[in-house]
Amino acid sequence: MWGLSLYLLTVVTAQGKGYPVCFFLPSGETKEALVEVLLQVKKLVPTWEPRVMLCDKDDSELGAIATVFPRAVIVLCDFHVKQAWNRWLRASAHGVSKDDQKIVYRALCHISNAPSVAACHARIQAFETGELFEANPQLQRWWKSEWKPCVELWCQAYRVSCYTRGLKTNNHTEALNRTIKHMLAQRPDLRVDSLVLFMLEVVLVEFDSKYRRQQAMENISIARVKEATKFEPELLLFLDRRPWRVQAQLNDRYVSSKQIPPSYFTKLGPTTFVVKKSNRTLAYELDAMVASSSPTYSVDYELGTCSCPDHVTSGYICKHLFGVLAHDGKTADDLPDTLKASAILTLDLARGARGATGRQCV
Ligand SMILES: [Zn+2]
Repeated sequence: MWGLSLYLLTVVTAQGKGYPVCFFLPSGETKEALVEVLLQVKKLVPTWEPRVMLCDKDDSELGAIATVFPRAVIVLCDFHVKQAWNRWLRASAHGVSKDDQKIVYRALCHISNAPSVAACHARIQAFETGELFEANPQLQRWWKSEWKPCVELWCQAYRVSCYTRGLKTNNHTEALNRTIKHMLAQRPDLRVDSLVLFMLEVVLVEFDSKYRRQQAMENISIARVKEATKFEPELLLFLDRRPWRVQAQLNDRYVSSKQIPPSYFTKLGPTTFVVKKSNRTLAYELDAMVASSSPTYSVDYELGTCSCPDHVTSGYICKHLFGVLAHDGKTADDLPDTLKASAILTLDLARGARGATGRQCV
């Protein structure tokens, strides 16, 4: 459009869908141009202080976000990061054989999935001391210039404390961008005033009605799930007034905690435990299993932490936390406020993206 790029700023709705809140056509794709736009947004909504911003690995976008929202945690789109790795590794000019491509890719994914910063450092060290890495100077240069300096933007260990609604990709925003461009192609002329009018009268109206339809469908499914869920009586008070999805998720984990054999708990300190991983595997647990090969998990109910992938990735009270509380004759009320009152467990109508809720681990 007049040789300008169409940018979208989207937020995630309660239904886990992207909703466009800002359209802009900056004069250039530079950091300065994007800073100008974000400052304008900030001026319009001065109370808006985003905690997490998800974007591509683009220096202009990263620089602009860091300038205008210095407190926001920036998360790189997982899909595009892995796509960039694949493209570089597959390029014949980089001298990585087909078999080695898979090994390097898996090593990078292993770093990306690190459950803690310490694990991330250990995995980086293992990667950098591997034979493959040492034998390929191009791989070393690429890694040291492109990916190692920004590891905190693509390794999940650096985002465990921030609420991402389980989102890892901005693909939904790209799909929206394509849809809107398609809609804009139907406008009657190329004038700026008719573009603005078209945005207001066609594009936004379409997204508003789509959003209302999604809300209506959500309300129907809430009623169905509420009817089908059998809540544990001793958990009812703790679940009271929390978002319905949180209620269902915590109830599931509470029920699962009762199935952990007592011999699986080893008490290490007043509030710290090691809990053995169960052999039982359910279909929806597979995703989380991939992220952890540890035979045990470390749990501290005073801090409200567990090293299992479920707790680390979802932020929910996992079955191990419920299990150690019961083991010590405590209840969920004995957890710290940082967990009990976290946005993940209290935000109205909060939900993870597709696949992120319902995730548990063995
Ligand atoms: Zn756990």
